[in-house]
Formats: sequence, C-alpha cells, structure tokens
Amino acid sequence: MNLVEFSTRFSTESACEEYLCQLRWKEGFRCPKCDNTEFMSVRVARRRDAKERLPLFECKSCHRQTSVTSGTIFHRSHVPLTKWFLAAYLIANDKRGIAATTLSQHLGVSYPTAWLMLNKLRKAMSERNSRYSLDEKVQVDEFYLGGISHGTGKQGRGTDQATVLIGVSLRSDAPQHCFM
Ligand SMILES: [Zn+2]
Repeated sequence: MNLVEFSTRFSTESACEEYLCQLRWKEGFRCPKCDNTEFMSVRVARRRDAKERLPLFECKSCHRQTSVTSGTIFHRSHVPLTKWFLAAYLIANDKRGIAATTLSQHLGVSYPTAWLMLNKLRKAMSERNSRYSLDEKVQVDEFYLGGISHGTGKQGRGTDQATVLIGVSLRSDAPQHCFM
C-alpha cells in the first residue's frame, strides 16, 4: 500500500479504530476481565471527540467498559490514531530508520512527542518480531562473523569467530522474512 492509499484508508479516527477491532477481536469482542463475549455499545458524551470515535464496549456480565485502544500503546494518548498509524507506516517504510525530527515534521507534533511515539512503536514492532516464527519453506545457513582468526586459526566449525545463524522463509522461492 502506498502512502496515498494508506492515508486515504486511515483518514479518520473511526477507520483506525475499526481496523484495531478487527486485529484485536478477530472472532468478536471478548471482555478482558471475565472473557464474556456479550457486550453493549456505550457512547461517552463527555469524551471531547465522542462523535469521531467508536463507542466503548460494555461487558453484559461484569459491566466493565473497554475501549479498543485499552491495553495498547495508543491508550490515553493525546495524539490521534490517524497520526499514530501514519507514524507506524513511515517507520516501517524507512529502511534507514526514520529520525524523531523527521517524524515530528511529517506529523506536525512536537519533538518530544515524536520521540516517544518512535520509541513506543519500535518497541512494539520488535516485540511483534520476537513472536513471529518462520513458516512455509525455510532455508537455514550459518556463517562466521569476525576479523582475522587468532588462537587456533581454525576455519569453519572450529573457528573462534562468532557464529551467525540465518533463517529465511520462502514463498514461491521469493524471500519473505529473515531472522539472524
Ligand atoms: Zn466482563
């Protein structure tokens, strides 16, 4: 998805929230407190941006009210979801690693806010990566990393250089994901 398609698709708070709902509750809502699946939608009038937001989910059993962002890095943030989503897009698409100053300019937020967003998103992305496992056809190989070998001077498996194991998942022989 290119930047134009992305910003069109996620142009409103409710579009972002709908997307989070699909990600979070693929098989429908589940109360985080009692695991019940029945809920009522509750509009909170006192919320400043109530009209733009999805209603809260109120569990019919324990009456706990849950918003789709609760328990996520977006919860209680003063930054709108549209900006969070755009930040995630920019970070994921900048292979050299986007700087907080650049992000702050693109999003129109202060430097400290951009810095915080960058760190929260990077942490979330690396946690997601650590849970990801390679699938389909996986090719694994090892190589040795380091300068000139001292000590035994052995090559290959006996070397004193650091061993790096690399795994690549392939789909139709095209690389998909890579772990080192
Ligand atoms: Zn409940």
